[in-house]
Amino acid sequence: MRRLLIILLFSCLLTSFGCAKKTTRYQAEFLSLFDTVTTVVGYAENKDEFTSLAEQIKGKLAEYHKLFDIYNSYEGLNNLKTINDNAGIAPVKVDQELISLLLFAKEQYYLTGGKLNIALGPVLRVWHEYRERALSDPLSAKVPSRKLLEEAAKHTDIEKVIIDEEASTVYLTDPEMSLDVGAVAKGYAVERIARYFEEQGISSLLISVGGNIRAIGGKPGKRGMEAWNIGIKNPDKESPDEELCNVLISGYSVVSSGTYERYYTVDGKKYHHIIDPNTLMPASYFKSITIICPDSGLADALSTAVFNMPVENGKKFIDSIENVEALWVTSTGEIVYSTGFKDFMKVNVKQ
Ligand code: ADP
Ligand code: MG
Repeated sequence: MRRLLIILLFSCLLTSFGCAKKTTRYQAEFLSLFDTVTTVVGYAENKDEFTSLAEQIKGKLAEYHKLFDIYNSYEGLNNLKTINDNAGIAPVKVDQELISLLLFAKEQYYLTGGKLNIALGPVLRVWHEYRERALSDPLSAKVPSRKLLEEAAKHTDIEKVIIDEEASTVYLTDPEMSLDVGAVAKGYAVERIARYFEEQGISSLLISVGGNIRAIGGKPGKRGMEAWNIGIKNPDKESPDEELCNVLISGYSVVSSGTYERYYTVDGKKYHHIIDPNTLMPASYFKSITIICPDSGLADALSTAVFNMPVENGKKFIDSIENVEALWVTSTGEIVYSTGFKDFMKVNVKQ
């Protein structure tokens, strides 16, 4: 009897986590959804089990992508583009998931004092067009005129986004207005998907959509479940250090916004993609901001919104929200931490 117990104990030690079955780490990557790279990391008993999960995630992401798309229409689907195309014309009946996203985004408008405004569509479209043109023909790169931006800004009133939850419709009352959910859609979709799989009993998984990271639980390690180790990108591309630091998370989300990925250059000056609703220009306070909190939708919204707040205001704002931490890299390269950020940081960053 005693021998049997010892053998049993020994075989438990051989498994990845406690007495559970032995699992192996798998990783899947897919392109094109949300205009970025998606990575899924998980531990499974065999490859097929993991592949099936990764495929389900891909399918769900593709559905959210279509629903939140402002550039393309899809047969038989009313999406965000349909809402924009019907501005000033008629309410559009849409899926409840889209209603939920818009309600969430509207809530974030009030929470952030308007620094995150999904009704900024006309202004964001101007910057988007100028950036696309500049990227395809750098010699023709221009900054949009004040007049053009101010004209567009006349049609960005969030109160003109009429959401009827019961009828499941959205109506933009100003014919010139349009919604752009680029600041929140990825994080929101990742959060919804993570919650779905949590409900399905998945206890360990890491999903990253273009660096919009959400962990389900921790990961199996030598001593049972351990936290996921996430590197925070250094926005300074010239620095030999690719990462600023590493954070350890279980069941949390880590989202960064930066000036280093989507931008164009005019006369040596960079114009990036986060637009301050007050100046209508790319926000100039920071190189990057990272948010850590349980909800990936909130992390995405805040990482964009706080970009448009001076660091002192942003710090006060973040410290006032429970369970949310942030790391700022200012435009001069200074690193600022919210009160509890360091609790997540891994000591001995370099091993
Ligand atoms: P990324 O999409 O690169 O991860 P963000 O989450 O910060 O970065 O979102 C940036 C996108 O959000 C922009 O491309 C634009 O579509 C949109 N956006 C930019 N500024 C604002 C703003 N002030 N309010 C709402 N949306 C914005
Ligand atoms: Mg964002």
